[in-house]
Amino acid sequence: MVLESAPTLGSEPVELAGAVGRILAQDVVSDMDMPPFDKAAMDGYACRRADLGHELSIVETIPAGYVPRQRIEANQCTRIMTGAWVPEGADCVIMVEETVSGTGPSTSEAVRFTGVQTADNICPRGEDVRAGQVVLGKGIRIRPQHIAILATVGCTSPCVFRQPRVAVISTGDELVPPGDKPQASQIRNSNSGQLCAQVRQVGAMARNGGIVADHPDEIDTMLRRAVAENDLVLLSGGVSAGDYDYVPQIMRRVGIDVLFHKVAIKPGKPTIFGVCGQTRCFGLPGNPVSSFVVFELLVKPLLYKMMGHEYRPLCVSLPLAEPVQRGNTERQSWIPATITGASTAEPIEYHGSAHITALSDADGLLCIEAGVARLDRGAPVVVRLI
Ligand code: AMP
Ligand code: MG
Repeated sequence: MVLESAPTLGSEPVELAGAVGRILAQDVVSDMDMPPFDKAAMDGYACRRADLGHELSIVETIPAGYVPRQRIEANQCTRIMTGAWVPEGADCVIMVEETVSGTGPSTSEAVRFTGVQTADNICPRGEDVRAGQVVLGKGIRIRPQHIAILATVGCTSPCVFRQPRVAVISTGDELVPPGDKPQASQIRNSNSGQLCAQVRQVGAMARNGGIVADHPDEIDTMLRRAVAENDLVLLSGGVSAGDYDYVPQIMRRVGIDVLFHKVAIKPGKPTIFGVCGQTRCFGLPGNPVSSFVVFELLVKPLLYKMMGHEYRPLCVSLPLAEPVQRGNTERQSWIPATITGASTAEPIEYHGSAHITALSDADGLLCIEAGVARLDRGAPVVVRLI
């Protein structure tokens, strides 16, 4: 339902230096062959394989960035550097380490091959990429290695999807900003910073709206503004069944069409989601482990889809390092876990959805499907990497 509701945003050009993490909105085509000429893969001498048994007279020196002028004829060679253009007539490059100076009258002007055999050591023109070939497809998430490709084909301002604007608002009378010392019965707002960081990691634009009190009118005012100004609103806290959990009713009051409230996921049960025009809105549970997990499972795929990217979470199947057991099997569970040196999945001691230090040690979230009460040591489990 979340993915089906996703609108796609427009696109914009971006400078290459700022393109990492953005999603390509165009196919990128190479304007040239790569390599653009037959290229030496070694420092050495370019010559004819048929002449390897003879002394070879050196007719030219070719550094990288230089166009050869001499054609190689019988018993000739050119001194050549890695990355340089292999001259016409040559069909191999012998490594400098496998040569000695010649014995003739001008020893420095000739060499002799001392090896037994040699590879060609030539990267043929167009071996890697042909001119006109699509080198990067629309929808990919740009990583550092893609920057090299964009630079190679001269695509210096790729067209990428616009970053969703995401408002992050924490509700709770007990919350104080992280820089304040909590008084009795207060805690610091850890959720807002974590959610903003998660949003930025996906490549979207986070706007930290701070803390709003558990008061219907204050939530109403804050939410109306956030919905009007953003593509996605993430509220945290106030979504369950307590006397001061006003978020679900206020979401409806401001005109959000609620598509679901409550999910069969642990942690994350009270999650609520709705749509208002072009804006999507989540009410996430207040506990930081819960909001983290629900972001991973539901919000991240939505943000990527809004940016034209089909998110495929990285999941590995590993044997369990120790048995896990639980009483209530109603929901699908996601438990913080580490991957051990022996390539097994080890659940981390976890007291519940406020236990942020358990999450901090985790390599991933281990999944126990609904209906499953016990998994034995060695049983295969899915770990979704975080
Ligand atoms: P709630 O979802 O509002 O019922 O909150 C559930 C639990 O999460 C309570 O213990 C809250 O104090 C805690 N909590 C709520 N919001 C935050 C927040 N922004 N940062 C840290 N903890 C929170
Ligand atoms: Mg609350």
